[in-house]
Amino acid sequence: MRESTMERAAVSITPQQVQQQQEFASLLAALLAAKYTEAPRAHIRTFGCQANEADSQRMAGQLQQCGFVLCDNPDDAQLILFNTCAVREHAEDRVFGNVGRLKQRRQADKHLRVGLCGCMPQQEHVAEQLKQSFPFVDLVFGTHASPRLPELLYKLYTTGRRVYDISAEQNEIVEGLPIERGSGVAAFVPIMFGCNNFCSFCVVPLVRGRERSRAPQAIVDEVRGLVAAGYREITLLGQNVNSYASEGYDFPRLLRELDAIEGDFWLRFTTSHPKDCTHELLDTMAQGKHICRHLHLPVQCGNDAILHAMNRRYTAQHYLDLAAYASEVMPVRSCRIFPSPATSLSAFPGKAMSSSATR
Ligand code: SF4
Repeated sequence: MRESTMERAAVSITPQQVQQQQEFASLLAALLAAKYTEAPRAHIRTFGCQANEADSQRMAGQLQQCGFVLCDNPDDAQLILFNTCAVREHAEDRVFGNVGRLKQRRQADKHLRVGLCGCMPQQEHVAEQLKQSFPFVDLVFGTHASPRLPELLYKLYTTGRRVYDISAEQNEIVEGLPIERGSGVAAFVPIMFGCNNFCSFCVVPLVRGRERSRAPQAIVDEVRGLVAAGYREITLLGQNVNSYASEGYDFPRLLRELDAIEGDFWLRFTTSHPKDCTHELLDTMAQGKHICRHLHLPVQCGNDAILHAMNRRYTAQHYLDLAAYASEVMPVRSCRIFPSPATSLSAFPGKAMSSSATR
């Protein structure tokens, strides 16, 4: 069992819903306490990116609030939750394989509950597939419904019927749901949610919605609190952190404000987009005392025609110019630029191996 390091997180939900979810959590905790002699155990398996990791940490905090104890081994759990990724087909196949393997155990164990959430079920066809082909899965919900986890669980445990929620609504960002970080050293801090870019190969804007940025003061307060609590590595998260915009702050200004916090810590951020990565941002990195000189800058392709077809809105030359400027303002040995093979598509209509490194 893990020791609780519960804190507060920001999510997309109304203030009234925050209060409502706390009430559902208390009701469920009372119900579970009456039903089980020992607190039931819950296990979350996370697939995909750091945004999913951050979501899982928040859901872990909510599960604790609902009366569950977290465990690392799914065999010990009475509730198993798969937080899924829709970006890679391989990840989807692994999720279906993992869930499928639980069928017999779910049918034999009347206390076990299985849930699936995140980006996969936010796509209607996948939710439908789950409904038809995985009838033993008790709980299915998408990214927009995940802040309402206590309510969904309460429904499940009181009705005993499957619960589906793949609603697409997007609410304002409100601070204050619990979070279980699971580490006292490294912390993810989401600064924005969603994406407006609609790269032609990417499902993110459809499953995570349009861009919403957190208020700068809330981010500064969270980072200051983490540093005071002894965290040494803070990673700011967003699908495109470079387009952060809130209350007159852009991303370089936010970074400068965070860099001014006193203490012994590293500041990282991911992911950047070449079209929004500016000289001002690179200068801010170069001048920062806490900001790591680590730039995750997906290139995707070196061919302008393909970049255009991908709707990336930059050219290979623009990327090279950025890399050159980064090298100029940050000495080569201390600046790492990651074009990221993982986010460089090896297959795209019209993209041949020979064109991937050329303009
Ligand atoms: S910027 Fe990133 S998250 Fe947004 S659509 Fe493009 S690849 Fe997807």
